[in-house]
Amino acid sequence: MRIACPAPNAGAPRSRGRGFRVSGRPRILTGDTPTGRLHLGHYVGSLENRLALQDTYECYFLLANMHAFTTRAAHPGDIRRDTIEIVKDWLAVGIDPQRSTIVLQTETPAIAELTWFFAMLLPFNRVMKNPTLRTEIDDKGLGDHYSFGFPMYAVGQCADILTFRPAMVPVGQDQVAHIEMCREVARRFNQTYCGVDPKTEDKDYPSAGGLFPIPEALVGRVGRLVGTDGKQKMSKSLGNAILLSDDPKTVKKKVGQIFTGRQTLTEPGDVSNALFQYVRAFIKDPGRIAELERRYAAGDNIGDGHVKAEVAEAVSALLEPMRARRAEFEREGGDDEVIDIIKAGTTRANVLAEDTLHRAKQVMGLDFGPRRLS
Ligand code: ATP
Ligand code: MG
Repeated sequence: MRIACPAPNAGAPRSRGRGFRVSGRPRILTGDTPTGRLHLGHYVGSLENRLALQDTYECYFLLANMHAFTTRAAHPGDIRRDTIEIVKDWLAVGIDPQRSTIVLQTETPAIAELTWFFAMLLPFNRVMKNPTLRTEIDDKGLGDHYSFGFPMYAVGQCADILTFRPAMVPVGQDQVAHIEMCREVARRFNQTYCGVDPKTEDKDYPSAGGLFPIPEALVGRVGRLVGTDGKQKMSKSLGNAILLSDDPKTVKKKVGQIFTGRQTLTEPGDVSNALFQYVRAFIKDPGRIAELERRYAAGDNIGDGHVKAEVAEAVSALLEPMRARRAEFEREGGDDEVIDIIKAGTTRANVLAEDTLHRAKQVMGLDFGPRRLS
């Protein structure tokens, strides 16, 4: 039996609560896991793009707190704290909750429900061989002790994204393999339940009757910022991060710790070392970058210490306005304000999420009527 797939925009909600109107603009969805505060890697990998797209796209930013349980199940208090801290980081960088919708994963039940159905569309080995998952298991030293739920987060991420039927997903390089898996799920769902021809080009899936668009990854200006250890990617969980909320003294100290390998006076400097990734990412003047590269490579009376001082200054200048905005939410009552923002955004998001789930259930033959849980 083939069940007709509802047109992706038919009956879409037009209003989602106070002060927020559906735009008719293409959507983006992305998010962060509350495993710590946000860092410079998030900024160059994804946040910059989110800020740039706030006015041209309908934006959904997900607090992936369920995913945080995959590695921190015994620390619910930390997850709750970091959920609030991440929203403060978002507000600090300039995410505007009037223009963008902040969504809490645990209060968006459609995501969990779609995760279950999507899990059936992915071969087990396909998930377990996902290179991002493998790298994470290695980087985080999970060995073979990770929970049954840990690899599920990769499937869950397909649902995080597709629940919002976005055109684009702004992410760092490490997430591209996950987005590819999400694209596979979208194709398979559309083919299996909406009768879309497998030969259809990705861009044509919605017009061919598919429920889900095949979303594209949008990788930031620096797809993988290396951590201060000079080896692994900067990561919340690896203790190698410069946080967006660090004060100038801490920034200076952490930049001072960036590992550059052994530099000798007789050997030219290596401008591909970790420190120079920071030079290129955070010093604004291209002329100054070129000069630092040239002098460092030539060993022209310029060492790590000097370059680090300039990097620390550039990073602090970037973070200064963020610190000021963050301070507004660090006073008494700030957490409550943040929780109100999360609640308002999640309420709006659920209208779209429930609509997606309802359409998915329709084409899967699961529409036994609107659900009333209480
Ligand atoms: P965890 O250590 O818990 O995995 P994380 O630091 O990797 O945390 P995530 O919440 O997994 O952060 O990632 C959120 C977004 O930020 C993703 O799009 C990811 O690709 C991007 N991102 C994270 N770290 C970096 C980095 N070092 N460089 C560029 N982008 C990054
Ligand atoms: Mg990560």
